[in-house]
Amino acid sequence: MQDLSLGLIGLGSVGRHYVAHLLKANGRLLVFDLDAAWTRSAESEGATSAGSARELAAQVDVLVLSLPSPTAVQAVMLGSDGVLAGGRPGLLVADASTIDPETCKRLYAAARDHGIDYLECPISGGQPGGAGTEGARAANVTFMVGGDADAFERARPVLALLGQKLFYLGPAGSGSTVKLISNLMAGLHMLVAAEALTLGAAAGFAPETLVEVFRETDAKSYTFTDYLATRIARRDFEPGFAVDLMYKDHRLASELAQRLGVPLLLNEVALQVNQMLRAQGLGRKDHAEVLNFWGRLAGLDVFEPLQPAD
Ligand code: NAD
Repeated sequence: MQDLSLGLIGLGSVGRHYVAHLLKANGRLLVFDLDAAWTRSAESEGATSAGSARELAAQVDVLVLSLPSPTAVQAVMLGSDGVLAGGRPGLLVADASTIDPETCKRLYAAARDHGIDYLECPISGGQPGGAGTEGARAANVTFMVGGDADAFERARPVLALLGQKLFYLGPAGSGSTVKLISNLMAGLHMLVAAEALTLGAAAGFAPETLVEVFRETDAKSYTFTDYLATRIARRDFEPGFAVDLMYKDHRLASELAQRLGVPLLLNEVALQVNQMLRAQGLGRKDHAEVLNFWGRLAGLDVFEPLQPAD
């Protein structure tokens, strides 16, 4: 990878951790983010910042995106100052954002018209406590990839700098479809845990006690025992993975289901609960905040279990 010029757009909760890993390829990395504080931080690690996505794309061979929404990815890819306006034929875009399959297909086709390869490769998993954020820090996220198989082979060495498990799932749209299904499950696991631990607190049991027991019972899930349990132990509800992003993923799963004519009852509940948190100004909290929210709905603080009556 000595000869490859690498770029990164989106230096938020996840992307900022990619900087150090990508610099390991050959000591060079071009970055861009709308937030100048993040580009300055990447510069302090050794990256060079570009003035726009277009300027950046013109100078790199492989470009990683880590952006918050389909709207942001479309702006970065298709805008007049965007990637397709600047990128040279042969550029490979590895988009690690979670977006919807239809947008992925459109971006794939638009990129192909410019001789550019667009590969969607959303992430999940990783280290306990922070899902993608901690996994990105530790370079052990899982990638779910959709696009051309030969583009995937070209991207493999770069993705291997960032994660450990790479799943190639088929043509454009496949990776994001599987990712949305994965987050549908993860979001529901979180909701179930919030409801259950609230009942536990009302019955006099501390969340830590229930975590210890449920690690050994049928109640366990990765979201519960690795993600939420770590946050309970740290009393930490800062992102991580924000409520706004989980809301977006449930919304995209809902749209996918509508297109496919599939009823998604539980996903709808999770979507609305996340919307309730957003309406209360909690959108930038970690999605584990639903535990505190559920406690308040029940009139208690889950970290102050009630004394059972008898
Ligand atoms: P974030 O909101 O923390 O970061 C997004 C970054 O993109 C911000 O720094 C923002 O300034 C930048 N940005 C937005 N619009 C831009 C534009 N037009 N041009 C340049 N920069 C722009 O989000 P995140 O938590 O880092 O997540 C990134 C993506 O990864 C999302 O799609 C999310 O769903 C997905 N993801 C996140 C996690 C996680 O644990 N946070 C886990 C799995 C997947």
